[in-house]
Amino acid sequence: MGQECGLFIGGHWETPAGAKRFSTINPTNREAVGSFVAGTPADVDRAVAAAAKAFPAWKEMPAPERGAILLEAARRFTQRKEELARIVTREMGKIISEARGDVQESIDFIEYMAGEGRRLAGETIPSELRAKFCLTVRQPKGVVACITPWNFPTAIPNWKMAAALITGNTVVFKPASNTALCGAEVVRTWEQAGLPPGVMNFVTGSGSVVGDALVADPRVRTVSFTGGVEAGRDVYVRGAQGLKMVHLELGGKNPVILMEDADLSLALDGVLFGAFGTSGQRCTATSRLILHEKVHDEFLGMLLERLQRFPVGDPLDPATGMGPVASADQEEKILAYIALGKKEAKLRSGGEKLRGGAYDRGFFIAPTIFETRHGTRISKEEIFGPVLSVLRVRDYAEAVRVANDVDYGLSSSIYTRDVNRAFQAIQDLEAGITYINAPTIGAEVQLPFGGIKNTGNGGREAGSVAIEEFTEIKSVFVDFSSKLQKAQIDTHPGG
Ligand code: NAP
Repeated sequence: MGQECGLFIGGHWETPAGAKRFSTINPTNREAVGSFVAGTPADVDRAVAAAAKAFPAWKEMPAPERGAILLEAARRFTQRKEELARIVTREMGKIISEARGDVQESIDFIEYMAGEGRRLAGETIPSELRAKFCLTVRQPKGVVACITPWNFPTAIPNWKMAAALITGNTVVFKPASNTALCGAEVVRTWEQAGLPPGVMNFVTGSGSVVGDALVADPRVRTVSFTGGVEAGRDVYVRGAQGLKMVHLELGGKNPVILMEDADLSLALDGVLFGAFGTSGQRCTATSRLILHEKVHDEFLGMLLERLQRFPVGDPLDPATGMGPVASADQEEKILAYIALGKKEAKLRSGGEKLRGGAYDRGFFIAPTIFETRHGTRISKEEIFGPVLSVLRVRDYAEAVRVANDVDYGLSSSIYTRDVNRAFQAIQDLEAGITYINAPTIGAEVQLPFGGIKNTGNGGREAGSVAIEEFTEIKSVFVDFSSKLQKAQIDTHPGG
């Protein structure tokens, strides 16, 4: 049955009487990892009530004091880094070095946000009237719902929650059902750091029950959601009914463009990491490789040759390059796209479920490459697995046209030694992130993260702008003239 976890509400772990449970399994071998409460709308109601109750005192606490608690959380995550990384690998399947990176991203961002406790800057702005002082201050929104996916099961919750907490909000966190133990361990670490009761609450259960109830609750003023487009759109529409702020971070179909002057061996390592890191299950994964015709055959040959020795297997083994995909559902969906690819494109490598020995116990798919033309479904839809579409183009203009002609706009990359072309690409590529001579993955917490088109609705996580979604700006006018002054009227006495 694995480790049993309850809900965390108002500072207590609890299992409601008669609660139904669900489990998570290790995608490497299908062994049980954890057992969790299938939360109900009544559980959400109690969690939101606890967050609302804790809000006034948390909001009143000076932001640097909240920052000290964040720093303690970062220290606790650092102490538990290896233990947590192993839980990430066990429950989600990413290789251990990437799991350590997942936890490190949590630590980096919590530390970064702790510093925000000593900034949280507003502006001072001149008044049009004499003896009047104008400024803005940031205020928290209240109760925030954080709904997260399974692919970065510690980093994404911590990105959202650290920014929400430092700005004085309280939180109800619903993790992806597939990685609920990672979610529970994240919450336990914050609890150990001394977060006051009710400031962070945790409700496990399905998106359609727990997620729905959170989005519908009128006390929840902001919903921060990361996941697929379908669920994101649904959350957006339902959040709009309550006139809530809904922040969406959704999918991607990220291109690497390789120009004729690219450093091919540098690009080879980058494309392999971008396409097959985390078994292709990153929102920023390289899922399209756009090759200039002058290097197309040579580079594809290099890629196919390296793939023959690409180690797929036990994600805890440091020699492994790619572990399993995260779940039976993921495996089924990816294999369906591979079957489609075999009809509409030319399979060049992989294209199958791996079988035999330890592979039979888990969800292993061979790293897959299709040579295809622009416009096929596999080259335009997010697959979210280890499947790379290779596209041939004549020149830079066609490369950019192909790169931009998808519904998503998260990450993008170009390999070139021509500095002018690199800067041109920064301008031309329709994406929230552009890498030069590096793959489409590799975000750093001090920079904004997010995309355009169907990747989201305009907000950004990480970086200093991360606090925007969690704060209201209040404008303050201080009139020390001791008389009534009328803006726009006193300034134009003649009419
Ligand atoms: P998902 O199925 O959309 O689920 C994401 C979260 O939403 C889960 O916690 C899920 O709960 C919940 N949920 C599902 N339906 C819901 C609903 N109707 N109302 C409220 N909540 C609902 O996505 P996923 O499979 O976990 O993650 C993969 C997707 O996330 C990919 O498209 C990927 O590109 C995207 N992603 C984007 C970013 C980014 O920053 N742009 C980062 C990482 C991942 P259950 O788990 O219980 O279903």
